[in-house]
Amino acid sequence: MRQNLHTHSTYCDGKNEPREMIENAIEKRFDILGFSGHGYVPFDTASMSIENTSEYIKEIRRLKEEFREQITIYLGIEEDMENRIMTKEPFDFVIGSCHFLTKDGQVLPIDYSRGVFEYMLDSMFSNDYLSLAETYYRKIMRMADWQEVDIIGHLDLITKFNEDESFIRFDDPAYVRHACDAVDAFAGKKILEVNTGAIARQYRRTPYPAINLLRYMHEKGVSICLNSDCHNAEYLDCGFRDALEMIRACGYRSMMKLTTEGFIETDIDEFE
Ligand SMILES: [Zn+2]
Ligand SMILES: [Zn+2]
Repeated sequence: MRQNLHTHSTYCDGKNEPREMIENAIEKRFDILGFSGHGYVPFDTASMSIENTSEYIKEIRRLKEEFREQITIYLGIEEDMENRIMTKEPFDFVIGSCHFLTKDGQVLPIDYSRGVFEYMLDSMFSNDYLSLAETYYRKIMRMADWQEVDIIGHLDLITKFNEDESFIRFDDPAYVRHACDAVDAFAGKKILEVNTGAIARQYRRTPYPAINLLRYMHEKGVSICLNSDCHNAEYLDCGFRDALEMIRACGYRSMMKLTTEGFIETDIDEFE
């Protein structure tokens, strides 16, 4: 069984139209493909406009019908914390993500580029990475009680440019404590995703979250799903094989599958 619930298209900042994503998914033998366009955020040009969002909804619904014999399509959205949608309707599922940090009226994106990240770290946090991490994890954990959110997107996004550990060591105890506080907040409430998106875009060789966090998530009984955060049809299953190995190595024996009845826990051996 192959599933990806984190897919972008030309309706936001993806490279391919939804139809091309679906055709590629069928070619790659996917059973389930969930679209998750970036929910509207007024200052984010990568997000869908309000008008585009209604077009997106219509288009995905149309394609869901058209391809129903070949693949199961779900209509989702990647909601950003800066513009909460509040209600799940009309979506089949909602990914909740934190892409921005704010301070004293200034808003900066976490994942735009290393340069912007360094500027944010300096201008908002006086180059104190731990202070940035604490702010980020305290912010993201608020979504534990947002009822419309099913999946928390890329939990440790603030490590996007940290593959070389030049900002923080992944096992720095103070850093890990902040991240684990967020995991504790989500345990039993939300699904966390293993997200291979930064691999396709060559920022990372490993998925979010870092392996020590994934191990901790398993200890805490946190449910997961595997997503590629795909912005380009070629990379729909990018890093899936290695990620599955990592998930198993952390002790996981099941992942969440989306059905018309909602999410169900499914044996890991069913996934590829
Ligand atoms: Zn995202
Ligand atoms: Zn995304």
